[in-house]
Amino acid sequence: MPEVFLASRNSKKVAEMQRILAEHVPDVVVLGLDDVTPYEEPVEDQPTFEGNALLKARAAVAATGRPSVADDSGLCVDALNGMPGVLSARWSGRRGTDREEVDTRNNVLLLDQLADVPDERRTAHFTCAVALCLPGGEEHVVHGRMDGRIIREQRGAGGFGYDVLFVADEHAAEGLTSAELDPAEKDRISHRGRALRELAPVVARVLA
Ligand code: IMP
Repeated sequence: MPEVFLASRNSKKVAEMQRILAEHVPDVVVLGLDDVTPYEEPVEDQPTFEGNALLKARAAVAATGRPSVADDSGLCVDALNGMPGVLSARWSGRRGTDREEVDTRNNVLLLDQLADVPDERRTAHFTCAVALCLPGGEEHVVHGRMDGRIIREQRGAGGFGYDVLFVADEHAAEGLTSAELDPAEKDRISHRGRALRELAPVVARVLA
């Protein structure tokens, strides 16, 4: 079976991507970092999601020689002029490697920054760029977006990152955060789900 390499250290993000790709391109084997020889991953220093996704996918192709997919994503908060944006993963600083601790610190900081922002101005969206790069130089980039708002306390045990603070527009009535959704429901409405569903036929075509 054809193989595609998923270049990410974030195991929860990888699980989401594997789940969505498996549903839409079931005949492709999706490899993770544990399946390839370790290589030096690039510093994500680009100003755009697309730039960082391409940086990661190109480095992955160079190191593994395999068709590679990389996602760069983040939360854009209107009251913060679109931040944390590309800095979402390290919004509270680069200290620490425990992802859950870092997520909690980022969430506490965001809540603090928005403490005086009234409910009607707490709008935000998640966005992601997903790049597919092939050894021959062919490149594809797709984008996805999920709109919603930032609530005032952390809620839910699923997902990762800022999910505990984010209520998508689709779930505004019940007030469920994306950390309280079934994985399949998050995939249906999420930035990553939308982008990967667009990429899936391209993956199928180029690997055929
Ligand atoms: P990246 O690994 O550099 O793309 O960082 C993405 C960061 O954005 C993550 O560490 C999270 O903080 C945030 N993020 C991206 N997608 C999601 C999501 O689906 N839910 C919650 N947080 C997300």
